[in-house]
Amino acid sequence: MRINRNPLAVVRNLGILAHVDAGKTTVTERILFATGTTHKRGEVHDGTTVTDFDPQERDRGITIFSAAVSCAWDGHRINLIDTPGHVDFADEVERALRVLDGAVAVFDAVAGVEPQSESVWRQADRHGVPRIAFVNKMDRAGADLDAAVASIRERLHPAPLVVQMPVGAEDTFTGVVDLVRLRALLWSDGDACEEAPVPDDLRAEARARRRALEEAVAELHPGALEEFCDTGTLGERTLSSALRDLTRDGDGVVVLCGSAYRNRGVEPLLDAVVAYLPSPLDVPPVRGTDDGEEQERPADPAAPPAALAFKVHATPTGRLTYLRIYSGTIEKGDTLWDASARRTERIGRILRVQADRHAPLDRAVAGDIVAVVGLKSARAGSTLCAPDVPLVLEPPGVPEPVVSVA
Ligand code: GDP
Repeated sequence: MRINRNPLAVVRNLGILAHVDAGKTTVTERILFATGTTHKRGEVHDGTTVTDFDPQERDRGITIFSAAVSCAWDGHRINLIDTPGHVDFADEVERALRVLDGAVAVFDAVAGVEPQSESVWRQADRHGVPRIAFVNKMDRAGADLDAAVASIRERLHPAPLVVQMPVGAEDTFTGVVDLVRLRALLWSDGDACEEAPVPDDLRAEARARRRALEEAVAELHPGALEEFCDTGTLGERTLSSALRDLTRDGDGVVVLCGSAYRNRGVEPLLDAVVAYLPSPLDVPPVRGTDDGEEQERPADPAAPPAALAFKVHATPTGRLTYLRIYSGTIEKGDTLWDASARRTERIGRILRVQADRHAPLDRAVAGDIVAVVGLKSARAGSTLCAPDVPLVLEPPGVPEPVVSVA
């Protein structure tokens, strides 16, 4: 049995990054469905997706506004922060990247890396966000995992660590072989996913791909290299923990594949999120300034509170301010200092946003992402902190340098 001593160890603050049309909204929907957050699958084409709840977004078919949704998977809480994929909303992507601890980058299995995937990838690099790659649309004619992986390697330059191989192709894409566990995951026409031994006709290829994965991991991870040199192979446990270290340190990118539209591949993707991406405890403490002096705040519920507002939504419930709490605890009724507007703010209600429902909370602690009602002046980018222990997490209004291309 796995014992998590610190409740923060089971939190994943996750973003989905993609080029428009790669399938970010569909992946998000399928995650909400797989985690039981929604009971009906939303479809992009009929405007019923829950993350795109702004009518303007539905009309335009692109995700403009970030929404944070909490869901549960395998004893973990995944706070899913939707990030706009459209290049016009780079500031929003930037702000969302600030509050993430890890991300899934979605690629189209036919198109591979597209220009916007590249720019969002670079932004995520700047923020040091560990990533997993999901090669989506494996059911499409012309889908090619190896070609997509090659374009990731060539254009984005990470070391791809391919942990799955597809079973079938295009129309007959029916499953994946998990190369870490050497088991097949097969989807039936319904949504059920069944685990099975690797099919006989794929055994030799699966063994060769597993070998390639072991070599790629041993090359990057000193502990794995030692085992590889001693035994000539890598056991499942060493492989998993090395994949986790490499992902968290940004030294490699785990690659999975699937078809979100056909609901194939989302469960193993969630397993990978939990296994490889960091919790708020695994990332460096947040840094900020007080009177020009640099300070660090640990992800500790007992530390003075510091939170970043990253999204403000006007909703029928009221003005919802989405907060990433970096340190301390905030409680309903607390008075906090808005270090950006230089005024006090009172926390009315604290809500955990679950798709289209809002669950009220009495308090929220470091590492969490929640929405609060009652803040009057806080805007995206404002720091909220203890009135007697001020901190500014993000200097307001620092313009991005303008880069002109001759
Ligand atoms: P976003 O712009 O990245 O949010 O992408 P969407 O989720 O809106 O998807 C763009 C289009 O691709 C929509 O028409 C989806 O139905 C379609 N799509 C998404 N995932 C898949 C997939 O796995 N296979 C296929 N064939 N189409 C998909």
